[in-house]
Amino acid sequence: MSKIVLASGNAGKLREFSKLFSKFNCELIPQKELQISDVDETGLSFVENAIIKARHAAQVSGLPALADDSGIEVDALNGAPGIYSARFSGLQASDADNNHKLLEELQGLKEKQRTARYQCVLVFMRHAKDPVPIIAQGSWEGIILEETRGEGGFGYDPLFWVPSHNCASAELDKEVKNKISHRAIASLALEAELKKAGY
Ligand code: IMP
Repeated sequence: MSKIVLASGNAGKLREFSKLFSKFNCELIPQKELQISDVDETGLSFVENAIIKARHAAQVSGLPALADDSGIEVDALNGAPGIYSARFSGLQASDADNNHKLLEELQGLKEKQRTARYQCVLVFMRHAKDPVPIIAQGSWEGIILEETRGEGGFGYDPLFWVPSHNCASAELDKEVKNKISHRAIASLALEAELKKAGY
């Protein structure tokens, strides 16, 4: 079984992506296990940041690497917070701080003006100097609520209304979210791209 380093410390992501890579007979190892620390996300797009993370993990480990970058794009804010989703209200911002700031910024806007989507980009690099990283993308459409709902998920989930399921993403069953989310869609796209590349 070949090994791939996952450029993330998130246990949920490890579980989700491990399932995908087991289909390719590959074992995902979280970068922390290899003493690889987080790298600064200095890119200006999800793609750049995912490449920066995958390249760093591949360089330090000498293994192929998988990285993801995700965030939420709000139309009324011209796509903000986007790549800055985790640090929307400051470097040490909590999810609650970020949700509070988002509500403030959208104050007074009607439902039609509150459209948004989660974005996820996945990057797979065979080695640190891979000139053709495999890139897959997924997005998930929703509407920003006027107040938080639900206890599940993380990040902006209590404010992300999912029209197809008539609830906030924080009210969705974990299994359901893992089937319809931006990460799920990007994972399916990555699977197709890996197959095309002969994996
Ligand atoms: P990361 O790519 O996991 O670091 O996510 C960046 C940020 O985007 C998170 O800190 C959240 O604020 C937001 N985000 C990404 N995916 C989700 C999601 O599925 N639910 C809620 N927030 C998300």
